[in-house]
Amino acid sequence: MEEMDGLCVGECTRCPALVDSRSRIVNGTGPDDADLLFVGEGPGAQEDSEGEPFVGRSGTVLDDGLRDVGLARADVRITNCVRCRPPENRDPTTDELENCRGYLEREIDLLDPDVIVTLGKVPSEHLLGRSVAVTNEAGSLEEVRIEGTPRRVLLCVHPAATLYDRSQEETFASALERAAELAGVGSSDGGQTRLDGF
Ligand code: URA
Repeated sequence: MEEMDGLCVGECTRCPALVDSRSRIVNGTGPDDADLLFVGEGPGAQEDSEGEPFVGRSGTVLDDGLRDVGLARADVRITNCVRCRPPENRDPTTDELENCRGYLEREIDLLDPDVIVTLGKVPSEHLLGRSVAVTNEAGSLEEVRIEGTPRRVLLCVHPAATLYDRSQEETFASALERAAELAGVGSSDGGQTRLDGF
């Protein structure tokens, strides 16, 4: 894949609508040997402007959730199904997801994570290849073949879901806890951070 340098895409013009709407390609971030890989849908406005996934409001929710299980953003890898911001934050189309699929597969292959966590419906359906009721299925683990290799995929709600529906907070927190446990990273009591609220 000539457009990719390691885990990052340098140049790509496969999706005309996204080439028009993006200001840059937003590659994954985090160590290239991380045990946990989080996969979101696609960059929003803030991500497009900063060039990093999950740096807007959803990113704050994700960072807080990671901290609560004893992890930091710098400990994990975070990427998206599509690397360019769709216009008006619409969902990526099937073609756009397909155009970007090879980049994601290559990132997964090179990283070889213990667990892939899908943040929301779009990445869950994209990686599982079936329809997913993510609020019901969050926290469940499936083995999926990606490029011929069996991968453990843990389903999770999108961090933004917790902003619209407070009842999703617990679902989100338990999925992150399960992810950390499965990957053998972090600490399930979150160290001192749980005391922050007291
Ligand atoms: N939502 C996503 O799915 N990805 C991002 O990078 C930011 C928000």
